[in-house]
Amino acid sequence: MTFRNNLKYALGLAAAVFASDMKPEIKEYHFSPLVQREEITLPISKVMELYFDCDQVFYNAGRFRYTRTIEELNEIVTKRKNLEEELIRYYNEQINLSRFTFHPIDTTYGWHDPLNGKGQIKDNFNDPRKRPGRRIEKHKASDIFLSVGNNIYSPGNVIVIAASGNWRGKWNGKKGLYDTKGGLGDLTGNGALLFSPSTREYYLLAHLKDVYVNTGDIIPGGTLIGTVGKTGNALSLRRKDDHLHFAMKKEGEACGVPGVLQPTNPFRILAEERMKNLYRPIYVDEESLYE
Ligand SMILES: [Zn+2]
Repeated sequence: MTFRNNLKYALGLAAAVFASDMKPEIKEYHFSPLVQREEITLPISKVMELYFDCDQVFYNAGRFRYTRTIEELNEIVTKRKNLEEELIRYYNEQINLSRFTFHPIDTTYGWHDPLNGKGQIKDNFNDPRKRPGRRIEKHKASDIFLSVGNNIYSPGNVIVIAASGNWRGKWNGKKGLYDTKGGLGDLTGNGALLFSPSTREYYLLAHLKDVYVNTGDIIPGGTLIGTVGKTGNALSLRRKDDHLHFAMKKEGEACGVPGVLQPTNPFRILAEERMKNLYRPIYVDEESLYE
């Protein structure tokens, strides 16, 4: 670890410690669609394929190679953009419908810390990870360390585009991860993939225990969506390493192909939000000073 990384880690740690007893208002409701739209309820494997960027590489004969050709990437981009248009149409339609319910969706909520100030954020974006089959992946996320069972909240006003809480799998030192099924994927485990229609950003929350939302749900920032877990490749971790894997992606030009999703490092937005809360003014009841 370099000095700079240590400093970043300490910043996240300090923010976490000081922010740990802050409790912003939590909304525990979300909006289930009144009209199910087939266009946006694709099978999980298809949605995860569209969420793909080009960080996955094979290491072969001393060279790194991308796992997708340019043609394949272009096809993913076209399909993903079509889906985004459908999602935005769907979002507006559902917001209008929600006005006729007892809990109309409030779209004024913005960014919200997914762990509500709890846990220690680690700046481990881009760390290399070995995967089966001579594959190397970069860790396109920040891990926030805190124990299994803690609540996770929506980071913004979003549509749930994939959600699963039925992951099963086994792990041992020799075989690694095996007999996996369900969830968002073998390594991801249980989780939720969210799309923000206003920023066109994707959020992935991985390794969850419980998942309380379904595909198509529309949820404001700060809504309870699940709990920290140990599913996917987090299964092998010791208790002190329990964490939420939090990833953000937005349309960019990853591997030089226009439109391919570009992962962003969530550390800064996570840490800055906590620092902001840290410097919030403290209101003192003047009379109590003289008691
Ligand atoms: Zn992670």
